[in-house]
Amino acid sequence: MSTSIMWFRRDLRLADNPALCAAAGSGEVVPVFVLDPHLLASAGRRRQRLLASLAVLRAETGGALVIRSGDPTEVIPALAAEVGADEVHVSAETTPYGRRRDDAAAQRLAESGSRLVATGSPYAVTPGRIQSQEGRPYRVFTPFAREWRSHGWRRPMPRPDVIWATGVAGDRVTGPTHLPGVGEAAALKRWSEFLEQDLAGYGDRRDRPDLDRTSRLSIALKYGEVHPRTLLADLDRRRDQVDPASIDRFEAELAWREFYADVLWHSPRSRWRDWREDRGQVRYDHDPELIDTWRHGRTGFPFVDAGMRQLLSQGWMHNRLRMVCASFLVKDLHVWWPHGARHFLEHLLDGDVASNNHGWQWVAGTGTDAAPYFRVFNPVTQGLRFDPEGEFVRRWVPELRHLPGAAAHEPWRHPDGYAREYPPRIVDHGVEREEALARWADQGSAA
Ligand code: FAD
Repeated sequence: MSTSIMWFRRDLRLADNPALCAAAGSGEVVPVFVLDPHLLASAGRRRQRLLASLAVLRAETGGALVIRSGDPTEVIPALAAEVGADEVHVSAETTPYGRRRDDAAAQRLAESGSRLVATGSPYAVTPGRIQSQEGRPYRVFTPFAREWRSHGWRRPMPRPDVIWATGVAGDRVTGPTHLPGVGEAAALKRWSEFLEQDLAGYGDRRDRPDLDRTSRLSIALKYGEVHPRTLLADLDRRRDQVDPASIDRFEAELAWREFYADVLWHSPRSRWRDWREDRGQVRYDHDPELIDTWRHGRTGFPFVDAGMRQLLSQGWMHNRLRMVCASFLVKDLHVWWPHGARHFLEHLLDGDVASNNHGWQWVAGTGTDAAPYFRVFNPVTQGLRFDPEGEFVRRWVPELRHLPGAAAHEPWRHPDGYAREYPPRIVDHGVEREEALARWADQGSAA
């Protein structure tokens, strides 16, 4: 019987895992995860979450999962030689670093007569595949999503019978502990709860952070504890039972994830640079003290502060808040988006360079679908509209808990608004909005 390696990366699950199916078909399988110092250095709070997911995966493989540390382009070929594996199976990686790493690993494996075999990817449609009729990548979401839907995807694959190779030694890794809600079974459980309780009405309620009715599956998707194809197939099965608008909306959100991965595939430089190169350079400020008030949720704008504190506390932030908080940094404090994107990536458990950095650019007006530069989120009216009773603000900002209903959004209008030492507003939104528009107009005419 031959031995192959299953090199897990962003696919920490056993069901609907085409790469694992391919590995299982060729004999005994050595499952491995490599703790790559290069990736861990920027993992922020995700490190513990990753280790917890690995602890679950190890249990699911009957203890067979081997965890080794080091440069994967050295660790994987060494392991292949050690266990006599001809093939190393992976889901294709699509980020700039992942692609470079996999090319190097494939080359090294080839030098010793083995192969890196990529099957599937963390997406329903592998980035790079969807193209316009002229053979170009899409630069706008709506036509991409249309084409993505008509391209379609395969059905989810069942969990294969795998003969795990046991007894292969791993490195001693400190820290893998069990956390609640982590791993494949927890992701599928959360998904079925969402389908039963929250899918109907998702279209209307998804924008309301106070209601908290989104799937919260972004973290599981980040680690591949569930594959989007599994979600898409389940959505399809419910088409006759649940309001179609909600199903379409959820599908569209998954399409945004796929779109941004596709944008990154075609434009690796847009990870940390403006995707739009055609508009010259906007003038930005960089006041560390102001940026710090934003980071710590002490801007004096209740909705922004609530979102920033949710991020620090939970390592997650509701999508509406991500937009409002990002807009505040870029348009009210005039800070270049990568500074904010870095802070998000340090804290978000779902931190994903494609979705995060292009989400930031969408807000900043430097990315695809360029949100018109004159769209500046008003942090107060956004709060009044999407948290109408002030519940979300009171949940995260204790200094405002004494204010009833919507008053929590405008402490300056209430006689006791500052009784509990909530900070005053650090800027005048009206003035900074005009300033942002003026700076954009300047660079627009310079281009
Ligand atoms: P749901 O509403 O349940 O949506 C289902 C899934 O669709 C999500 O899990 C996610 O995979 C995908 N999705 C939803 N909205 C978006 C979107 N706008 N862009 C891309 N995918 C989307 N998402 C991340 O996964 N990682 C990030 O690092 C990230 N950073 C962001 C930064 C900014 C500035 C903005 C505006 C958005 C960012 N998003 C990011 C997208 C979105 O905010 C999160 O995916 C969503 O809030 C996750 O919550 P959920 O799983 O409950 O979402």
